[in-house]
Amino acid sequence: MHCARCGYPVAGGFEPGALPVCPACASGACPMDLIRSACVYDDASRASMLPFKHGGRIQYARFMSRGMIWALRDADISPDVIMPVPLAGRRLRHRGYNQATLLARPIARAMGVPMDLESVRRIYREDMGHKNARQRAENIRGVFEVVNPDKIRGKRILLVDDVMTTGATFYELYRVLHRSGASAVYGLTFCRVARTE
Ligand SMILES: [Zn+2]
Repeated sequence: MHCARCGYPVAGGFEPGALPVCPACASGACPMDLIRSACVYDDASRASMLPFKHGGRIQYARFMSRGMIWALRDADISPDVIMPVPLAGRRLRHRGYNQATLLARPIARAMGVPMDLESVRRIYREDMGHKNARQRAENIRGVFEVVNPDKIRGKRILLVDDVMTTGATFYELYRVLHRSGASAVYGLTFCRVARTE
């Protein structure tokens, strides 16, 4: 079973008749209007993810994005724009590409929705590495800047990223987009880290 709102796998299913949401969504810890991922982060998805993200295998974006489109099949959303999670300029120059943009492009084409690559900028900050949820949230706070609020106001925005770990990145983007008047913020990733604690 999966949470109806954030798509998180819930072991053992839900109480009959209860709203099918996970504890994080039920408690309000997750602000997003909807999240979906094509798969969980495991040995199989890592075998695509790592060469795609760090080894220049950009052609993987084709099948990865196909899985992501499929992951939205039960989602009743109509986004106005698709926004890949921005990469800081310094990191973009180093890697040569934003892996989120490569995934977002075929999704935008399939959905017939324009991409927005310019309205939000990301400030460079040291890599988060292996940190816990609280540290990640603190580390990412304030890294995104809305440079074009007119393009955000009243918009339903579908964020695209390669992986969702603790959700800190999406939640921080939600915060700044919502503050700029976005009417809905959804998230879509190729894979998702399942919490072990
Ligand atoms: Zn949930």
